[in-house]
Amino acid sequence: MYISNMTHFLDETGNIAREMHKDGRNMAGFLAMVIDATTKSKEEGFVDLDIRCNVPGCTGPILAEIIPVTEEIHWGCTECENDGIISDWKNTKWDNSGASSLSD
Ligand SMILES: [Zn+2]
Repeated sequence: MYISNMTHFLDETGNIAREMHKDGRNMAGFLAMVIDATTKSKEEGFVDLDIRCNVPGCTGPILAEIIPVTEEIHWGCTECENDGIISDWKNTKWDNSGASSLSD
């Protein structure tokens, strides 16, 4: 299981850091898609994100849920052992959960 703190992948502007090695950037891009798709859903429990597994050779669908107490995102592939937890995703560029009405 991947335990990922999303802020560790980001630079000071909130974008995926360029100085990361390729695997790290690929993982960060995948996690960003998971955050985006998960926070668009208003359903409770696991939702199908319409994202394919990022394990080479696996095309299984990725499901995810927001864990109610910790508000971490728990994601996983239904066809292999690939899964993980994302923390500190709130207020990243891919967080669609909040009412972002900054109308000052
Ligand atoms: Zn898979």
